Amino acid sequence: MDIRIVNTCNNDCLYCLESSLRNKDKFISKDSLFTAISKEEDKSNITFFWWNPLLHPELKEIMYHSYKEWFCWIGLLSNTQGISKKYLWELITEWLSTFWIYFNSFDKKNHEIINWWWISYEDYLHNLKLLAVSWINLKIIIHINDLNINTVARDVLILREKYWFTNFDFINYFPFDKPYLNKDLLEYNIQDNAKQIELIFKVVKKFSLKVNFMKFSKDFFSYFTEYYNYERGVLNQIWEEDIQRLNWKWTPFCYEEKRCEQCFIKDNCRYYGI
Ligand code: SF4
Repeated sequence: MDIRIVNTCNNDCLYCLESSLRNKDKFISKDSLFTAISKEEDKSNITFFWWNPLLHPELKEIMYHSYKEWFCWIGLLSNTQGISKKYLWELITEWLSTFWIYFNSFDKKNHEIINWWWISYEDYLHNLKLLAVSWINLKIIIHINDLNINTVARDVLILREKYWFTNFDFINYFPFDKPYLNKDLLEYNIQDNAKQIELIFKVVKKFSLKVNFMKFSKDFFSYFTEYYNYERGVLNQIWEEDIQRLNWKWTPFCYEEKRCEQCFIKDNCRYYGI
């Protein structure tokens, strides 16, 4: 079960798809969360997802409630802002078992462009180290974009060698959700970056990393097709609201912006090839 508990974030990352939700209540009420958690039948895992759940003032109580409702794995996805040694320990004692961490780049300039300086580079590295030695289940989530594509392979290597991370999700630049204000900073060309992409796969392969590639077109994988998840299928990689969006009533902006070649969903889109 993935559940959103905040509609707010300390950051304003360039690639964020969630900015339109900021007008809603900042923190989902504890009572409505408890009801949703209690109603869920699949108790295998619960992840507090989207934006920065660490900002919810009642996070510890919500986690403890999840534990009492018999969820086996309790996880968070966060940019780490708000964590401290003491708070992390308190969350672990409230049965936090998994922490997924958004990561952009060890390149300070790139970090600052993507994060708009909201979480300082130094604070971020400090939090990364804190989590790396926590021995809970950890995963790094990297949105690949034009700013970091040259450093992803090197960064994954550092994350593996220096911080012992072995579990990664890579998420592609999302072509059709909304017009990005900073499209030119995010959108990359697969052919122009073929060597860098190959390096990513070589690092992943050399260290037998646990990886998951989301929303990449088949072209991205070149001859590393073992990393393309044919079973999952394209439509399972997107949310229900995105599937609705594919029923375009008008010519979509992404078509007009000529994004189709890099789009992971092009084989399912009636506009591609028109
Ligand atoms: S194939 Fe083109 S028009 Fe269709 S969703 Fe992708 S980018 Fe948009």
